Amino acid sequence: MLDAKTNMNLDNTTPPRKSRPDELVPSRYAVRIGEIDVLVVSDGVLPLPTKMLGHNADPAIRAAWLNDMFLPPDAFDWALNVVVVRSGGKTILIDAGLGSDPDLQLPRAGQLIKRLEAAGIDLASVTDVVLTHMHMDHIGGLLVDGVKDRLRPDLRIHVAAAEVKFWESPDFTHADMPAGFPDALRSAAKRFAKEYRSQLQLFDEAYEVAPGVVVRRTGGHTPGHSVVRLASGGDRLTFPATPSSRSDSTIRTGTTVSNTTPRKRLAYGSVFCGSWLRPAKCW
Ligand SMILES: [Zn+2]
Repeated sequence: MLDAKTNMNLDNTTPPRKSRPDELVPSRYAVRIGEIDVLVVSDGVLPLPTKMLGHNADPAIRAAWLNDMFLPPDAFDWALNVVVVRSGGKTILIDAGLGSDPDLQLPRAGQLIKRLEAAGIDLASVTDVVLTHMHMDHIGGLLVDGVKDRLRPDLRIHVAAAEVKFWESPDFTHADMPAGFPDALRSAAKRFAKEYRSQLQLFDEAYEVAPGVVVRRTGGHTPGHSVVRLASGGDRLTFPATPSSRSDSTIRTGTTVSNTTPRKRLAYGSVFCGSWLRPAKCW
């Protein structure tokens, strides 16, 4: 099913049309929040060491938890999702996935561009990008060869001013990451800032990108980490990106580890640098 206004393929179950890239299973999920169209697109998964999960948890407790969840003990498939939102005539990409860095050898992620194509979303139709933060698994899709040339020259990229400032000279003193990640994070953020500097739209605390689409800085996972809230017609949805609802469950996945709890409880605790959604009607 194609939405007449947005050209988004809102069908969650049927294969894409023949003219689009083949997908055995459509890696997307559509939902409507009042007047706002929302499409969640999977960028893939990152297999990360389980010791990165609940960094300050007792290893035995962590191992027992993983076992209870029927999860393997050593590596956790960390889901990366991107969201496309259409509101008020704007098509907004919230985060951009991992992209393709051959040095990282993470081929199961970085699928965003082809999955947008499979969903019928032309990169040239994207008017705005919102970045929850500047870790490589949220900006990398914009750094894939040829992507910038397919984006509109007047594309606006909204990101917290504190986030951009942090990445000018990032301090990983308190971070615990697999080998290679610190350099890769620094490199991706530096490259992104250089490539897209003229298109950055900085905000301090909050900004309404389109009717009912508000990005708000929470800090925590990174200094300028932000969440996106959608609200329309009595429905609400929050894209927390990397929330930590309890300061004592914070894990050290990237940059500074803060004891800051997001101002509002988002949900029981995903603390991973990934993305998940929770319909927020029960707030
Ligand atoms: Zn992150």
